[in-house]
Amino acid sequence: FLSHIQEQRLKAAPNIHEFAFRKKRVRVLSSASDVNEQYKGGVVYWMSRDARVQDNWALLFAQRLALKLELPLTVVYCLVPKFLNATLRHYKFMLGGLQEVERQCRELNISFKLLLGPAVERLPQFVNDEQIGAVICDFAPLRLPRQWVEDVVKALPANVPLTQVDAHNVVPLWVTSEKQEYAARTIRNKINSKLSEYLTEFPPLIKHAHGNVKGSHGVDWTAAHKMLSCDMSVDAVEWAQPGYTSACKQLYDFCTRRLRLFYDKRNDPMADALSGLSPWLHFGQISAQRCVLEVSRYKTLFKASAEAFCEEAIVRRELADNFCYYNEHYDNLKGLHSWAYETLQTHRKDKRSPCYTLEELEQSRTYDDLWNSAQLQLVKEGKMHGFLRMYWAKKILEWTETPEQALEYSILLNDKYSLDGRDPNGYVGCMWSIGGIHDQGWKERAIFGKIRYMNYQGCKRKFDVNAFVMRYGGK
Ligand code: FAD
Repeated sequence: FLSHIQEQRLKAAPNIHEFAFRKKRVRVLSSASDVNEQYKGGVVYWMSRDARVQDNWALLFAQRLALKLELPLTVVYCLVPKFLNATLRHYKFMLGGLQEVERQCRELNISFKLLLGPAVERLPQFVNDEQIGAVICDFAPLRLPRQWVEDVVKALPANVPLTQVDAHNVVPLWVTSEKQEYAARTIRNKINSKLSEYLTEFPPLIKHAHGNVKGSHGVDWTAAHKMLSCDMSVDAVEWAQPGYTSACKQLYDFCTRRLRLFYDKRNDPMADALSGLSPWLHFGQISAQRCVLEVSRYKTLFKASAEAFCEEAIVRRELADNFCYYNEHYDNLKGLHSWAYETLQTHRKDKRSPCYTLEELEQSRTYDDLWNSAQLQLVKEGKMHGFLRMYWAKKILEWTETPEQALEYSILLNDKYSLDGRDPNGYVGCMWSIGGIHDQGWKERAIFGKIRYMNYQGCKRKFDVNAFVMRYGGK
């Protein structure tokens, strides 16, 4: 499968110089825009959201620039000891993926540096010490990574340009829309009408012709692990191994075994029908564009499934990025539409019974065996089925003192246990479930007001609830 993908790249662009790079993927963030060619240290790709070597528009852009200037290329990752509420589970997955990045970079004569500490401190210092002439970074819509980029722009030497490439979305976020979109229906055509331009095959990243990484020291991964100060109580899961190769295996298994079921069975947590790709997509270890290109090859066999997958992996995913980028309140109730905020206000005083504490929820101690089983799945496997995620979050609204608390707890539990947590999709998933984002008003009822309601009976009609409870053991 890996060589099949490489063949596709070579077919599309045997020569990286000849490849027509879409310039709108790129924006210059600094006042300096020309590369400082006296700086012989070459070009740096500051890797953050998109932690992969191949199928990465930011790294491809950096290599093209370095080749044009006949200079070396370095990939830099800045590791912080703590990131929001990421746990050891997340750090192991991330560092495992980066180890593969280091190996692949070495094979391509690209140096890889893991800098310990925040980018704003370590990156400008590295740029100075190594005489770097230009920095390329990837793009993330969330608050903290955006702040990192802003701080780095200010801290870099004035004559070193910082250029950003959206390597995560198929259609670059700033090309799709300049504003917060109301719902999938308002963004769908804006994305789909640009796919012929942007949903193209990637050229391969090639062996770099300048510089020599052979004699250089590798990363001290033990030191990296030692500097972590995250929550160590939540450890790695077995089913998802980190890195690009494991991600490709997951994609291959999905295409050949599960895709056929995707259309009919994607809302059935007992059917193994989903891709399970979100951990690798979240950490940027595989490109969503690659997943879509591969799945699209099955359109003749499983048309409805392939199309449904593209809707999720392109439209829904890119809608989540759009929301988080254009709405600074993407994770609190101030970010809701007025109808949703007002309806939750109207029902703020409605009696909640039962009403659970965070501890009771975390330990799966509710009266609802389905909910408890879903929570157990989250804790044990670092993942919850997409359909149950909606039910799970809506029940938290029903069982906590206020909508604010419901949102806080759902984000906290999702981000603590789910391997794909702290993602725009997660904030939007919680805001959809609890605050009706990208949804419409429904029949009014207690606590929820006009927010869409889901219940146990509805789940029973959709899938074998008992079998799910048996599998995960919720009481
Ligand atoms: P598949 O169904 O195989 O879909 C393929 C890809 O499409 C996914 O990996 C994802 O990137 C994208 N996708 C699918 N559904 C959605 C959706 N509804 N919105 C946006 N993108 C989507 N997704 C996360 O990536 N991280 C989260 O932390 C997260 N938290 C969620 C919390 C709640 C309360 C809800 C309701 C949803 C959440 N989602 C989250 C969205 C969705 O449930 C997951 O993306 C999906 O379950 C991941 O499993 P999969 O890769 O097998 O998905």
